[in-house]
Amino acid sequence: MNEQRHHGSCHCGAVAYDVTMSLDNTITCNCSMCGRAGTILAFVPAEKFTLLSGEDNLTSYTFNKKIIDHLFCNVCGIKPFGRGKDQDGNDTVAVNVRCLEDVDLTKLEPYHYDGKNA
Ligand SMILES: [Zn+2]
Repeated sequence: MNEQRHHGSCHCGAVAYDVTMSLDNTITCNCSMCGRAGTILAFVPAEKFTLLSGEDNLTSYTFNKKIIDHLFCNVCGIKPFGRGKDQDGNDTVAVNVRCLEDVDLTKLEPYHYDGKNA
């Protein structure tokens, strides 16, 4: 699947973004955070991601090694994306694919990452 432009948002619409990405490499994870939130994530370089609105509505939550900014909308509580670094230290965005418009979630084949035991 080629990279495509997608629009994403939280539930109330305060947080909105555009992202250019492929949906080939989505993951789910069973760690203490993802297991509870039920997110389907895809990691993209920060330059592929444009936050259109809502920076002021984002609350950051960090835990464990505190290397990922788990962000949620402080109005509706949805987690539209997070921020982190890849192995080389580049800024990376973890997009919650469930927050993208025009994505058929039943067509995704996410990799099940065993974050609980990583
Ligand atoms: Zn919201």
